[in-house]
Formats: sequence, structure tokens, C-alpha cells
Amino acid sequence: MKKSPQQDKLEALLRSSKLSACGFLGEDKRSLWEIIDADATELERLGRTREDVAARMQELTDQAVPALGDWVKVGKMFQVCVDDNRGMIPCPWPHAVRCLKRITTIHHLKTGKTVRWSDLNIHLIKEHGFFEGKGAPFRIEPKDLVDSIFAS
Ligand SMILES: [Zn+2]
Repeated sequence: MKKSPQQDKLEALLRSSKLSACGFLGEDKRSLWEIIDADATELERLGRTREDVAARMQELTDQAVPALGDWVKVGKMFQVCVDDNRGMIPCPWPHAVRCLKRITTIHHLKTGKTVRWSDLNIHLIKEHGFFEGKGAPFRIEPKDLVDSIFAS
């Protein structure tokens, strides 16, 4: 597929450190569209849609928001903590969406695994199917995420 100038512009912005200190693509040499395609395939293999995943992430974040900064037990399996870094970060896609600079960390009590995400991650996954590039500070591996958030 031939890329449009808008797509090139978006990819350049994601690779730069303009919005996020280390960029959204990390060390990843693949194009933005290859990254999105590969993660979509992986998610399908895992039997989840990006809407399911984003909804579950949002649910876990929401449960810990009232305790801001403290660990909250969610269900039998999770400890969840939300840290608010104050301020907003814009979505790099060309639309007027800004997300709170909030970080959610979940700790799975049985496996000991920890996964973290920002509010922007939730938006990027839900709306753009984008889990960020390998090596980006907020890259989330779909398998790690799905294994953790849907574990019981
Ligand atoms: Zn967006």
C-alpha cells in the first residue's frame, strides 16, 4: 500500500521526541503500519479485540483512581495503582484528543507479573490499534497485556 503524505507525517512525528521524550516507535525499524498490522494479527490470535482490551484496561484504571497513588486490590488477583503525573498529553494522530498523564500499574498476585500503561496507551490501542514500537518506553506486548488483564 502506498503511503499518503499524512501517514508519512504521522510516522515521522511518532519517531521524533516532540511529544514523548523517547518517541513512540523506540528502536523499531518497521513502519508504523507494519507494527499496527503485526499487533492486530497477534491480538486476533489471542482471541481479543482492541475494544475488549481497552475496556478492560480502563476498568482496572478506574477502580484504582479513587485511591490515587495507593495500591488497591481488584478482584482476587490484582493489585492496581494509578499515579497522576498531572497535565495532559495529546494523541499524535491528527485529531483533538488529549489524555491525562496518568500511569496505571497492575501487579498480578499469582504470577508476580507487572504491566503498566498510560491513559494515552488505552486511547492508542482502542482508537488506533497502536501498542507502540519495540523499545519505546510505553510499548506494551499484546500477549503480556492480554495474559495479565484477563487472568483470573
Ligand atoms: Zn488518537
